[in-house]
Amino acid sequence: MEKINRLLVIDDQQELCDFIAEVAKDLGYDTLTVTDAETFRRAYLNFNPTVVVLDLQMPGFDGIELLRYLGSQNARTQVLVASGMDQRVLSTADQMGQSQGLTMLGALQKPIMLPDLESVLRRAMKRGAGVTAEDLQDAMTKQQLQVYYQPKARNIGGSWVVEGVEALARWHHPLRGFIPPPDFIGIAENSGQIRQLTEQLVEECIQQAAQWIALDTPLHVAINLSTRLLNDRNFPDLVATIAAKYGVSPHLLAFEVTETAAMADPDTTMDVLTRLRLKNFGLSIDDFGTGYSSLKQLYQMPFSELKIDISFVRDVCQRHEARVMVETMVLLAHKLGMTVCAEGVETQEVLDFLAKANCDHVQGYFVGKPMPGADVLTAVASWNRQTAAPYAA
Ligand code: C2E
Ligand code: CA
Ligand code: CA
Repeated sequence: MEKINRLLVIDDQQELCDFIAEVAKDLGYDTLTVTDAETFRRAYLNFNPTVVVLDLQMPGFDGIELLRYLGSQNARTQVLVASGMDQRVLSTADQMGQSQGLTMLGALQKPIMLPDLESVLRRAMKRGAGVTAEDLQDAMTKQQLQVYYQPKARNIGGSWVVEGVEALARWHHPLRGFIPPPDFIGIAENSGQIRQLTEQLVEECIQQAAQWIALDTPLHVAINLSTRLLNDRNFPDLVATIAAKYGVSPHLLAFEVTETAAMADPDTTMDVLTRLRLKNFGLSIDDFGTGYSSLKQLYQMPFSELKIDISFVRDVCQRHEARVMVETMVLLAHKLGMTVCAEGVETQEVLDFLAKANCDHVQGYFVGKPMPGADVLTAVASWNRQTAAPYAA
């Protein structure tokens, strides 16, 4: 039987093809390796891969040509580029793939490290037979969806104090296990369930915020908002009503959005965002610096916070370019009167860099992983106790 995950590798070095194929097989992929462009095109059409791993430089032709070929085929496959070239060339190829309408998985620099390859191939796998809108409806009814909260720390004179959290949806399916948010949010968007799902999550978050207030430890809560909801003119009133019901001041709540450019109706979007701001909810432009959240949206829409995408933050200790980007995004946000939050902080080194760069907020595994609401206050107290000391003058 044909497996649902199929990987096609093209590289002029057979050993490298074999290595990638081995790793993919272990994860459950069907694999096919090729070493020249002509065979690649045939294999692409016959094998119908769900993932293509592409070497950028091969004798006689280059990977960019093949990216263009995949683009011309309106390929729905996900593409990972690999090369010995430096990271900038790789990033450019990645962007080029995106502009061809391809789903890019990023770029791997050779020599390819096993954990990096495994992680990206795992991410690209389609799970099981896929979940359906009916499964999701069932999950919502049976309350299998839960909100996890990730701590968000504020820079107070060089000390990072947790004052808020980001709410992240979690679905623990009894048979299929953990289903990551991008998988089921997409289903909800396409099936029209996103409004019900968001209402349920927003209510849970606000209820949780109210509990923290009642315990005398108010925390800011940021909630991710699908762009579909930005076409719903009733949304600002709906959330204002829920906030009022639980006695939570809107200034403790914020909404994070991306992809505003792709929205069907810019007038309605602007209307919804502006009314949320007027009601004193915070508004963050999420994943800033990626193709989805652009300068144009920053310029036009009433955001109060800019969230620097993890892809820049992760690299600040290795790459001069990443440091320049992060420092510049901080300046840009401040000049526009916005605060700035760096996501994906995993080490003390990165945290120290962000303090020097004058970044206002940070989030990431180093400060805390997403966790159930019941664990938050203990984690926050423990972090805040520790962090004050090392930074104190
Ligand atoms: P996002 O808003 O950019 O959320 C950050 C993601 O990065 C989260 O993944 C989080 O678990 C992960 N993350 C946080 N810190 C680190 C770190 O230090 N290292 C690494 N490697 N990752 C880190 P998650 O929870 O899987 O969420 C993925 C995306 O799904 C979110 O991206 C958001 O766009 C969307 N999402 C999550 N919950 C909701 C929701 O309730 N509604 C909507 N519309 N979208 C949601
Ligand atoms: Ca977010
Ligand atoms: Ca983000």
